[in-house]
Amino acid sequence: IKRIGVLTSGGDAPGMNAAIRAVTRVALNSGIEVFGIYDGYRGMVDGHIEPLTRKEVGEVIDRGGTVLGSARLPEFKDPSVREKAVEQLKKRGIEAVVVIGGDGSYRGALALTEMGINCIGLPGTIDNDITSTDYTIGFDTALHTVVEAVDKLRDTSSSHHRCSVVEVMGNRCGDLTLWAGIACGAEIVVTAQTGFDEEEVLERLRELDLVRKKRHAIVLISEKITDVHQFARKITQTTGFSGRATILGHIQRGGSPTPSDRVLASRMGEKAVDLLMQGIGGRCVCIQQNEIVDVAIEEALSVPRESRKQLYNLFERLV
Ligand code: ADP
Repeated sequence: IKRIGVLTSGGDAPGMNAAIRAVTRVALNSGIEVFGIYDGYRGMVDGHIEPLTRKEVGEVIDRGGTVLGSARLPEFKDPSVREKAVEQLKKRGIEAVVVIGGDGSYRGALALTEMGINCIGLPGTIDNDITSTDYTIGFDTALHTVVEAVDKLRDTSSSHHRCSVVEVMGNRCGDLTLWAGIACGAEIVVTAQTGFDEEEVLERLRELDLVRKKRHAIVLISEKITDVHQFARKITQTTGFSGRATILGHIQRGGSPTPSDRVLASRMGEKAVDLLMQGIGGRCVCIQQNEIVDVAIEEALSVPRESRKQLYNLFERLV
């Protein structure tokens, strides 16, 4: 193999740059030329593709976001659009591509592999919602951001007998909320996995106020479950706490990646290049029990979500 491409696609995540750098440096050091494909599959179709040098991926390991840009291109599901992308790659002699993104991006990578361009997926998303890997690139950084924000909210909540309702990202995966809940000592976590019974949560808050005499309470709720502002108003109306909602939003997607994310991205980037050098495609890189492994993309997309039962139990035992 002589030439590979690398792109970032879907929602961005801290650590994507560290992955781009690792792919580029490992490939160049193995005598393979590397091309950056800008704005995900859009740049592949439009031919926005430029060679990457060692220097160009210098001084990016500590930067959030992605220097290659990211985009969504729903039309990429259309085989005739992908045909154009394959032409653009062939024209430049690019034989294989590393795709850094979430499960949607993985589907695109699989479709391209089936058209003769070997692709390897790297899990770049803060949501930790790729079930074949224990951790995705960006999750640890987002967790740090959430924990820092919630710690600050707790300081001000306890001065005012307040209940802070914090909406956390995760796109239907409760990991960010659960991990943050344990790390921040939250009183209640609500995720797609716990389910949401509004009356039950309100009752627990009344108990925390009246029986446990708590001065403050933190409720972490995953996004896409309920309107947190409305819920905070109900807390004010029906419990002794004054409810305040905070939607952390896109700050969770930014920031300098943590050392763990940088190391994970580097390990995964190396693996992706090694697989392509062996002529392998249609697979994605995972970390399982601290080992870097690869699994078929089809398989990665069909692993059922872990229940995290032990961690939810632990959370309850810590309250
Ligand atoms: P993520 O990768 O973060 O899950 P998306 O679901 O938006 O983000 O997917 C990113 C991009 O991957 C889409 O905009 C599209 O270009 C491509 N993609 C998603 N699903 C498919 C599919 N079934 N076939 C081909 N390409 C796809």
